[in-house]
Amino acid sequence: MQENGWNTFEIGTILRPFEGPTPDVTAIQPEDRSYSKSNSFSVSVADWRIEKPLFNKEHCIDCQFCWIYCPDMSIISRDKKMIGIDFDHCKGCGICVEVCPTTPKALLMFPEQKDEETALSEWPEKDKKEPKEI
Ligand code: SF4
Ligand code: SF4
Repeated sequence: MQENGWNTFEIGTILRPFEGPTPDVTAIQPEDRSYSKSNSFSVSVADWRIEKPLFNKEHCIDCQFCWIYCPDMSIISRDKKMIGIDFDHCKGCGICVEVCPTTPKALLMFPEQKDEETALSEWPEKDKKEPKEI
């Protein structure tokens, strides 16, 4: 990812989303598209975050709410399965965590420095129901 910011473009610059001829981009996965240098996808904004969402697959029901509501298209989903977060573009807004409907949530916010393994070990547990007495 480049270190360009929006203030590096001169006034009047024409911003083009893709390099060269534009095929049907909807048929190509975002990471395989030939973005231009002035496309916001080409610029990492990871250093804007102070908190990040982390994903616990064990609790995910693949409802896709996080994918629908993320304002930065930073939820990675393939074949309607949530597979992770694009940390080059996630800005840490927490909307995906707010809309995640499971208990406990499959996405939770953690400090940016927290490593995934520690976060997963601290995840709230699912309520275990007591077996019914007969
Ligand atoms: S924290 Fe915000 S930007 Fe990051 S994945 Fe969640 S909804 Fe998207
Ligand atoms: S909102 Fe939660 S349960 Fe639904 S796909 Fe995203 S992580 Fe999984």
